Amino acid sequence: MRIVLLGPPGAGKGTQAVLICKKYGIPHISTGEMLRDAVASGSDLGKMVKSVLDSGELVTDQLVMQVVADRLRREDCARGYLLDGVPRTVVQAEILRDMLAESKTALTSVVQISVPEQVLLERIRHRGGAGARTDDTAEVAAKRLQVYWAQTAPVAEFYRVAGLLVEVNGVGTVEEVSERLFAAVER
Ligand code: AMP
Repeated sequence: MRIVLLGPPGAGKGTQAVLICKKYGIPHISTGEMLRDAVASGSDLGKMVKSVLDSGELVTDQLVMQVVADRLRREDCARGYLLDGVPRTVVQAEILRDMLAESKTALTSVVQISVPEQVLLERIRHRGGAGARTDDTAEVAAKRLQVYWAQTAPVAEFYRVAGLLVEVNGVGTVEEVSERLFAAVER
């Protein structure tokens, strides 16, 4: 299974990604997590991206797709993976498509977790608190949502046109949503 999980910030993408990966035994590839790890480790990559992450803007397409390409080459991805937080722009989706074509593989499904904007804003407001991500302040969260609509929402359209997109209702309990997602990726 080679899955792309799409959805706006606050849709529960991270939680659901973990459940899908556990159920199907595939690695969870989260670019946000990889980039935050890079920042925490103080690597060259981390130094390059720290201010961008803190602002809620996007890291450049070339940089992030290089990170993904390196990750997908690792052996644990041979039998599949789930991409979480990438592609984030149509350019990234195109780079991924070309990368997969080159390795003669293809995505098996692209699943979008859909949640109405009002619900998202509520959820984002309740995140924050102790141990929260430094990009989880209300202001940055609002910025991330704005970036999502401008740059990432078109990615779903890209996959819809390609005939790969399955939309799943993201309103409900974690279990309800994960059951819908399992059904979607098994189609
Ligand atoms: P996430 O955990 O997926 O919400 O990502 C956290 C932050 O990392 C984002 O706000 C971006 O600054 C950066 N980021 C993660 N994935 C990408 C990506 N595919 N393209 C560009 N920036 C990304």
